Amino acid sequence: MVYRHNFSYDSKTNKGIYLDYAATTPVASEVMKAMMPYFSEKYGNPSSVHYFGQQAMAAVDESREIVAKAIGLSAVNDFRSVIFTGSATEANNLALRGVVKFSDKILKPKIIVSTIEHESVLRTVKDLEKAGVEIEYLPVDDKGFVQIEKLKKVLDKKTVLVSIMYANNEIGTVQPIKKISKIIKDWKLENNPDSIYPLFHTDAVQAFQYLNCNVFDLGVDLMTLSAHKIYGPKGIGALYINNKDSSNFKILPLITGGHQEFDLRAGTENVAAIVGFAKAVELAVLLRKKETERISKLAVYFWRELKKIYSKVEINGVDLEKTDFLKTEDYISLRLPNILNIYFPNYSAEDLLIKFDMAQIAVSAGSACLSRFSKPSPVLQALGLPLQRIKSSLRFSFGRFTTKEEIVNVLKKIKNILK
Ligand code: PLP
Repeated sequence: MVYRHNFSYDSKTNKGIYLDYAATTPVASEVMKAMMPYFSEKYGNPSSVHYFGQQAMAAVDESREIVAKAIGLSAVNDFRSVIFTGSATEANNLALRGVVKFSDKILKPKIIVSTIEHESVLRTVKDLEKAGVEIEYLPVDDKGFVQIEKLKKVLDKKTVLVSIMYANNEIGTVQPIKKISKIIKDWKLENNPDSIYPLFHTDAVQAFQYLNCNVFDLGVDLMTLSAHKIYGPKGIGALYINNKDSSNFKILPLITGGHQEFDLRAGTENVAAIVGFAKAVELAVLLRKKETERISKLAVYFWRELKKIYSKVEINGVDLEKTDFLKTEDYISLRLPNILNIYFPNYSAEDLLIKFDMAQIAVSAGSACLSRFSKPSPVLQALGLPLQRIKSSLRFSFGRFTTKEEIVNVLKKIKNILK
């Protein structure tokens, strides 16, 4: 069933309570302001040699520099390591397919992914499998942590890429990316010292808002970002590609044509969106610490109050009860502060979703990409949860504009709904 209705919201003021920030975020006013001139007076094509073109190219260059610095790059040459794409989905595709294309001397290359990656990774590896790539799926435990011991066992000389997301979009579990990159590096040193493989990619789309995304601290070779999860515009993403120890990029383009993005992504740059992305990145870094603390507190408050309303509720993923006594930095090494995936025993998620929507509360039953199709969440399935629990679970995700007042209001409404 595809569910579609909007009669309960005031479409002029959109005055419902939005608790679906993991699906997308509104564009911040600062971002809008930064973008506007690039729709009107600064309309040049960055590839043009004249003034208008150079003005647009300067905006793209400055934006690239801002994003690059935000992920720990400093040397001017490193800035070429950030490639703007049309979405994070495209960036994930570029990482997976681009690495495989480059590695075509390896007979039947292998990619290792976790079982709880975003669809843009899982469906891409399914497609690559059909084309002869070997795919190894790393299982997760019941909280969503990748079983890293198993990683050591499945790495081999055919492995060209390991792709493990930084933080999950449905349950918020944060993977130990530094530990994983160390395992890969140690394995490489011992078993494949002369090769660039295996490379390590992480999808940091949900993580960027709250976690340190310095690529050197994390030890990743490739990293995906998206603007619309961090108060930037939709339809713009980026892929970081470590080109430090190779004169060549370790990746081949999926879209060919002009020479934009250092020949890795042809097509006239979406200048306004790129400028907006950079502004969103700048703001996110500035607000990261404060927002992490504010949202953690809100989430814990919401959770405690919700338990008073309905004591049977449980968290899918890392439990808040076990983490709320931790210091913020320890807490966010285990789970994102803003995502609460909650099991409501004896209630159907589908029914609740509709009732919440009628009460002007926007939440979701999982990943936005899948929720319209009412499919049981593959992420919750990978945790080993029974189908009946999955069908009774909803995702609440908080964000920059979530207030205590809103949460109090939502709790009142939930009390009515669960009566
Ligand atoms: N990766 C993760 C973890 C996500 O949450 C999303 C968003 O749905 C994506 C990738 C895809 O992002 P985009 O909508 O920019 O393609």
